[in-house]
Amino acid sequence: MEWIEGLPKIELHCHLDGAVHPQRIRDFLAAEGTPLPQNFDARISVGEDCPSLTEYLRCFELPLRWLQTTQGLQTAVCDLLRDCKTQNIRYIEIRFAPTLHLDGGLSYEQVFQALKEGRDRGEGETGVRCAFLVCAMRHHSMEQNLAMLEAAAKWHPDLVCGCDLAGDENAFPTASHQKFFYRAAELGIPYTIHSGETGNAANIETALALNAKRLGHGIAMKDLPALRAQVKAQGVGVELCPTSNFQTKASTGWEDYPLKSYLAEGLVVCLNTDNPTVSRTNLNREYARAMIEGGCTKGEILRLLDNACTMSFAPETWKQSYREELAQFAAQTET
Ligand SMILES: [Zn+2]
Repeated sequence: MEWIEGLPKIELHCHLDGAVHPQRIRDFLAAEGTPLPQNFDARISVGEDCPSLTEYLRCFELPLRWLQTTQGLQTAVCDLLRDCKTQNIRYIEIRFAPTLHLDGGLSYEQVFQALKEGRDRGEGETGVRCAFLVCAMRHHSMEQNLAMLEAAAKWHPDLVCGCDLAGDENAFPTASHQKFFYRAAELGIPYTIHSGETGNAANIETALALNAKRLGHGIAMKDLPALRAQVKAQGVGVELCPTSNFQTKASTGWEDYPLKSYLAEGLVVCLNTDNPTVSRTNLNREYARAMIEGGCTKGEILRLLDNACTMSFAPETWKQSYREELAQFAAQTET
């Protein structure tokens, strides 16, 4: 565990509304005069006994109610960057759906400005480098998602490093959102797409056809060698989130989890938390689980981090400095 904690790390799949500190929500409800729900813990997080993705998604309701002001957004970003620092995370791509933060009257401009201020303050305080991935929502209209993208494009590449599509994969397949990604490509904004989290391999095929740089989860191709070969040939990254995948029943457990097999096949795969608060996890825990329960060697853990660097949307100069730091750590701790 000491070795894991000391590793310089990268987090590429982490949702802002899934990372809110429970105390912030308690304070918010108290300030609103709303009594704390009796089942508060179960309203914001799940355990391994989580019955389904539906139950999992319910945990975002309270955090999203808090994240409707510039103050709330800034605070959440700073809190997350402080969490990163305590875990030796050097770089994080935080994802969020801008359109879900307009309910309190904020404009897109105000949302991005708040995130920029939170990012600047948090980076200054912690030294953790941070950029944002904007999520279009599958249940939103094309007009809504395109309007969000145009607003986000003004903040690319400094604040917004890429985009994504989130929400119910089965009810709203990626194929009906192709226009969004055509426009992102026109704007020069790279994208990762939530694909194959809940058994839907067709969404992985669509993501490949759209030239996505990365797949969020990509579990559905674990028994489809031809599809994996295509992912490998296109050099598409795979963002695995073990604890979250077990809780949402995307995977039944480590014995069935494709981490080792994806690595062995040479897929560019890395580990992530998805939602630290909702999943009651952090990145150190995900890496420790991969070693202890998933059977990964130190060499494989280092490869996962090198992969994360490769598939990140960070500038090449930063990638170079991270690789040097990782190599130095590996050399120093070699036994
Ligand atoms: Zn996700």
